Amino acid sequence: MTTLTRHDCERLDAQDTLATLRHQFSIPDDVIYLDGNSLGVLPVTAAARAAQVVTQEWGVGLIRSWNTAGWMELPQRIGNKIARLVGAVEGELVVTDSTSVNLFKVLSAALRISQADAPKRDVILSERSNFPTDLYIAESLAKQHGMTLELVEADEIPAHLNERLAVLMLTQVNYRTGRVNDMSALTKAAHQADALTVWDLAHSAGALPVDLTGSGADFAVGCGYKYLNGGPGAPAFVWANPRHAERFWQPLAGWLGHAAPFAFTSDYRPAAGINRYLCGTPPVISLAVLECGLDTVLAAEPLGGMQALRAKSLALTEMFIELVEARCSAHGFELASPRDPALRGSQVSFARDIGGYAVMQALIARGVIGDFRAPDILRFGFTPLYVRFIDVWDAVEHLVQVMQSGEWKHARFQVRSAVT
Ligand SMILES: *Cc1c(COP(=O)(O)O)cnc(C)c1O
Repeated sequence: MTTLTRHDCERLDAQDTLATLRHQFSIPDDVIYLDGNSLGVLPVTAAARAAQVVTQEWGVGLIRSWNTAGWMELPQRIGNKIARLVGAVEGELVVTDSTSVNLFKVLSAALRISQADAPKRDVILSERSNFPTDLYIAESLAKQHGMTLELVEADEIPAHLNERLAVLMLTQVNYRTGRVNDMSALTKAAHQADALTVWDLAHSAGALPVDLTGSGADFAVGCGYKYLNGGPGAPAFVWANPRHAERFWQPLAGWLGHAAPFAFTSDYRPAAGINRYLCGTPPVISLAVLECGLDTVLAAEPLGGMQALRAKSLALTEMFIELVEARCSAHGFELASPRDPALRGSQVSFARDIGGYAVMQALIARGVIGDFRAPDILRFGFTPLYVRFIDVWDAVEHLVQVMQSGEWKHARFQVRSAVT
């Protein structure tokens, strides 16, 4: 049962102190976008900024722009903006490469530190349902270092923090369920077991308050194209706790991670601090567009910042759960996200035994865009920068109609696309 009405949602939107932030985005009128956890929406500033970089900085400035347009400093300058969102200190975080590649660098560094300090430790521990690329990178490094990758359920992690553990590698918010791993508590527990931690912030940076410094984490990486709205394939970021940043070279010792790239010496000398985590030439156009996305999140700072965004995100996900459970109870949707708001990221997942993919396709055909994660998860992301309460209501209304009409059973919704 629910007593909520569409009118209540309109009232909540009218009272929402973050409502103006939606104007920063270009969202098609006929779309309710619930997939910002996978690809954020287009900031209105992005197209003009990209055009400026292409026609002016590149077209007119040509190679001079490396010096005159600040191209070379983009990884650090944008990194400092991300640092504000994830509780890192200026100068500790750079934007570069992809999440997968950055994970390779920091996990390598963590393993080498562990092998130097505690050579007998031979286990990398992670969550079984961690994002596959994280597990593949860890498996590859485990092989390279003669170690074992152990995968357990989230609630089994504390029992596995033992004398064999080298590195605990986790994603702060699980991509399937949206369940939050307690970064501070798990980092403390890992450190008590003399192990290091590597955190992936792909589903938490820009989605909820993150405190890298306060949690004492050792290394972190994160994604630019999800809650940071940086555009498809936007560069990712990498952070190393300053106590570790200079202990080792990272393995992808490219020239832009060199202390003096333009000295063109034949031997490698790593740059100070996090800059050694850079590898090759920065993707200038992508970085410029990422900054537009990032600025949409930072625009919330005078309105209460990540705390205020988190409060709205939880109000949106609470409402979605309440409405789906009240109005679709006959249709076999099982909540797959934590009911406890403290344990829930900015998404809601429902499992459905059969036809989950087709139900999502039917929703997408109606302009309600979420996604599907095999074998049975319908995933709905609620980015509080641009999702309204009325969108929650209307999305559930569409879901009710898709189920009641049996529309989802249509043959055209059964065909799998390459990207789900
Ligand atoms: C989205 C995501 C990635 C993406 O990695 P890419 O290298 O950008 O493809 C990695 N890890 C997690 C946990 C993610 O959610």
